[in-house]
Amino acid sequence: MADKKLFENLPEPQPDALLALIGLCRADPRPTKIDVGVGVYRDAAGATPILRSVKAAEKILIETQDTKTYLGSDGDTRFVELIKQVAFGDALAGDPTLVGVQTPGGCGALRLGAELLKSAGATRIFLGQPTWPNHAPLLGVARLETVDYPYYDTAKRTVRFDEMMKALEGARAGDVVLLHGCCHNPTGADLSLDQWDRLSRFVADRGLIPFIDLAYQGLGNGLDEDAAGTRMMVERVDQALVAQSCDKNFGLYRERTGALFVKAPSEAVAKAVYGNLLSLARTNWSMPPDHGAAIVRIILDTPDLRADWKAELTEMLARIRGLRARLAAADPRLAYIDEQNGMFSMLPLSPEQVLELRKEEGFYMAGSGRFNVAGLSDENVDRFAKAVAAKLPA
Ligand code: PMP
Repeated sequence: MADKKLFENLPEPQPDALLALIGLCRADPRPTKIDVGVGVYRDAAGATPILRSVKAAEKILIETQDTKTYLGSDGDTRFVELIKQVAFGDALAGDPTLVGVQTPGGCGALRLGAELLKSAGATRIFLGQPTWPNHAPLLGVARLETVDYPYYDTAKRTVRFDEMMKALEGARAGDVVLLHGCCHNPTGADLSLDQWDRLSRFVADRGLIPFIDLAYQGLGNGLDEDAAGTRMMVERVDQALVAQSCDKNFGLYRERTGALFVKAPSEAVAKAVYGNLLSLARTNWSMPPDHGAAIVRIILDTPDLRADWKAELTEMLARIRGLRARLAAADPRLAYIDEQNGMFSMLPLSPEQVLELRKEEGFYMAGSGRFNVAGLSDENVDRFAKAVAAKLPA
């Protein structure tokens, strides 16, 4: 007989600290509160509006779409072709050994990649410390053993590159190394091109498999600049995975828009990879949601909309860079923030100091000291910098 109390065996779900923070911020009546916790882009007015180019593409879609019948497990193949060119540039866009399928966001791409790796017999994945907290659970679900490597020194505010390379000496051929393509979450500290050069030679020599998470292309220093390390790595190795997301750079968040690309050593193997991706997708979500990918396809396929999207992305990037420069100029101890990229940086604060700033100033940031630069505005950035600097050691 079935166990009637089956669901009582379930583990206590882990509360999501960042979601809890949203609730706390919302409940705070102080008009001077600042939400730098949640990881979405905000404009100068504190809003996360739908991009003009996205609205225009949605109108076109409503007028021209004539069926809602199923697509395949690969999703919108024209979307995949177009976003491949954006992510990898012209040199790799036509590479038949680099195959891709549409996924439900970057999360879907990470999960699908992990399942492909597991199915191919990979056993270990190296993860930088710190990394995005969802990496380990998303990849761990494919039962890959996770091994930590040092990535960022919070006190020194720099990438621990030598230590990282030393830790990777312990990786064996076929081991997977997770990397952030740009705009590292949570630290904002990216590898320099010189470091990508050294790392990609090492990874190629050792037969390691890079798995690059490219979730913020265009929000660091520009579309091509932000993808330069990823492209260098993919060109140098014969096996790689790239989880791409359009959820930040097209502001599509809830539409769950992304793709997984896999580079194989030959066209024949790439075909086998593609077939496997389709079967794995089929058993996960059958096929990805269409709307976001259709929007991106229309934007990238329509010259006016493509140009407008690029202008909007440049505006977002300029706002982030401007805020970073303001924080850096406010205090020498915050100067490192201007060297970092994307929406996030970490403040070298203890969890107690983070709580004090919440109580005293109404600043809502993660307990780790990670804050969303785009959550600041021209009006409050100086107050934020001053209050944070007051907590830092002289
Ligand atoms: N990777 C990183 C580093 C992220 O920060 C995020 C989103 N917060 C993702 C992947 C997943 O993005 P998506 O919303 O497209 O699933």
